[in-house]
Amino acid sequence: MSMQLAAGVLNQIFNTISVGLIVVDRNNQILLWNDWVEKRSNIETSAAIGRHIASVFDETPSAAFTSAITKTIDYGLPVILSNALHRSPLPLYERNDKNREKKRIHQSITLTPLEVDGERQCLIQITDSTTSIKREKILRSHSELLKKEATTDGLTGIYNRRFFDEHFKMALAQAVRHGTSLSVFMVDIDFFKQFNDYYGHVAGDKALIQVAGALKSQLLRASDVLARFGGEEFVLMLPNISQESAMQFAEKLQSAIRDLRIPHEKSLVSPHISISVGFSHFSKDTPLDSAALLKTADAALYAAKNNGRNRIFFLSLPLLTEQSRLFSAPAPKH
Ligand code: GH3
Ligand code: MG
Ligand code: MG
Repeated sequence: MSMQLAAGVLNQIFNTISVGLIVVDRNNQILLWNDWVEKRSNIETSAAIGRHIASVFDETPSAAFTSAITKTIDYGLPVILSNALHRSPLPLYERNDKNREKKRIHQSITLTPLEVDGERQCLIQITDSTTSIKREKILRSHSELLKKEATTDGLTGIYNRRFFDEHFKMALAQAVRHGTSLSVFMVDIDFFKQFNDYYGHVAGDKALIQVAGALKSQLLRASDVLARFGGEEFVLMLPNISQESAMQFAEKLQSAIRDLRIPHEKSLVSPHISISVGFSHFSKDTPLDSAALLKTADAALYAAKNNGRNRIFFLSLPLLTEQSRLFSAPAPKH
């Protein structure tokens, strides 16, 4: 049984393979030009054979392409033309394109040295990377969407707790390191259970969206963060403001919600939806326990509720005890 390929089979393979194949000799003259290349270049094989690779197309190939051929032949080393740098080095177009405007394909090109009777030739392999580039783009935008979904609250569109927790940790570490201040505000809608019971869950959702929007419109700087902490509770952090400005900001939050004038017949504190706000403030002036910032703001909110709701409460951070200082403050420099 013969183990040899029948004559002509190699030729059939060259012309059915879904890769563009061009072979040039050391003078850059074309020796092979397969069907794939013929169909995508609109240059017939018979017209291409014997031509110089730099003049066969009606546009001059890029310098990167011609110097890659030279390198391959001179040094006998394979070269890959990076797709990221040269999307479409050769004038090759999509097949069966009846339109006048033909779409140029993106190409991945590999050049490999061939040794033929002691002479070096260059095999140019071209693949169509248009679809893989498209797929990559889709995947990338899909993963960006997932990232966004993972950090935003589905109902209100503002950041979720997960995002807040992560950024709060960073902002706090930065405030401690740079000796800047950080204020945290906890916000909770008053008698919201009664609102839901009376107006229904859909109206409740709508109110939550409005409240989130009103809170968000109070943010002025890119470093300010608002997030839904859970249920009808929100949290905000503002770096680099004074304690007095923090108080004024809390008042602005309260009046922004009041100004929405969402009727709330079942509230015992206001004819409209109102909020309670608790906040705390970290600054480097005194050795305060920064790690307690969120907990203290939460305790302040609790106090605002206990003191009648629809009000603002501030609690200062506890002083660092010797014990906690050991763990949270950097060692003093000598
Ligand atoms: P307080 O003034 O003490 O804050 O009382 P409250 O009724 O606001 O607080 P409570 O924690 O008892 O109830 C919170 C309610 O918020 C429970 C639930 O009906 C409502 N709620 C939480 N999440 C959502 C939501 O995503 N959509 C809607 N419509 N309601 C929600
Ligand atoms: Mg509430
Ligand atoms: Mg609550």
